[in-house]
Amino acid sequence: MRVRTGIWIAALAVACDGSADVKDDTLDTAPLGPRLPSTTFSATTDFTGTAELAVDVPAGTLSFLMAAQGPEGTLAYVDRVYDPSGALVYRLEDWYFDHSDETLSMGVLPIDDTTTLNWPILDEHGALSPGTWVLHLRDWSGGAADVTFEGTVQTRLPQTENTLRALVVYAAGVSDEAEVVEATEAAVQVWADIWSAWGLSLEVRYAESDVDPDLPNALEPGDALAQVSAMGEDWDVTVIIGETQEGTPYSVLGSASSIPGPLTAARRSAVLISWPRIAGPDGRFSEDDIGQYGNTLAHELGHFAGLTHPVEVGWDRYDAVSDTPRCTTTGLCEAQLGGNLMFPYVMCPYPYTDCDAQDELSSGQQTVLLNYTGLL
Ligand SMILES: [Zn+2]
Repeated sequence: MRVRTGIWIAALAVACDGSADVKDDTLDTAPLGPRLPSTTFSATTDFTGTAELAVDVPAGTLSFLMAAQGPEGTLAYVDRVYDPSGALVYRLEDWYFDHSDETLSMGVLPIDDTTTLNWPILDEHGALSPGTWVLHLRDWSGGAADVTFEGTVQTRLPQTENTLRALVVYAAGVSDEAEVVEATEAAVQVWADIWSAWGLSLEVRYAESDVDPDLPNALEPGDALAQVSAMGEDWDVTVIIGETQEGTPYSVLGSASSIPGPLTAARRSAVLISWPRIAGPDGRFSEDDIGQYGNTLAHELGHFAGLTHPVEVGWDRYDAVSDTPRCTTTGLCEAQLGGNLMFPYVMCPYPYTDCDAQDELSSGQQTVLLNYTGLL
């Protein structure tokens, strides 16, 4: 992955002609800082292999987001979460692949050296209790004592807007294509329209960068995403518009590097979009393509804010949300969940024309989305 120096931000106002609220946020972002107190930490495992992390939650805090990174080669994960009363509210073995057919979050699982936790997640987790929360971080790769995790905890104070801030970053050369820029801005409006149904709004800024448009695989993201994400603020999410995503089939239009994703700069701090795959073989953006582009943004940022697919292809793995159906066949799942924003594939054949709308979320899914710490 090549990242040249000389990354710059060109902030542009979004053309806003729809009903949804997309604002240009370039003039004054500083006041957001106090609403999202952020602390960095370094936590080292003891002889039992556990690194204990205390998270102080002041009264009134809505949620917290922890992002940690272990040394290269580690498989970092969140093993335990205790609330301020000492009650165990999360443990890995209840949710690890072999033990459950439900996914609560991907970020907590041992996948690579990065782990994330946003809490609360589900309706049943209730409001966040004030006091000291305790997280146990561990390394699945066999690391025992003296593994040091470094990261950030952000706590969200009461918000009034439920607004997600996004920095949309064009990879090198992409913003030279006027049609891509125009389609991206129109797709952001589609995304905003979809999310507005749940009382959410967007503030979007645009930037250009020299990052290689041949983007990495979101599952093996690397340092380039951290460098691009560092262009933004600690309260925005980063969306990179590139051409390809390494090692993914042509059907992958976009991907989220983490569920949920960090707001701060880290290796899993971005959503990746492949614009030529959305435009299709003619390389042009039809109205259908722009609709699909907007849906892809709404879906991938849904992942980044913590939503998993309600059901995975194979029809035997589900989300942990209690009000999404547990369908078991292609026909049933398409009938019951095909209109859901987080359904695992688009409801139309390639090249994605006349797609069925996918703009629904269950009440439980809406709670997951609204619990994301990046909604200020
Ligand atoms: Zn997805």
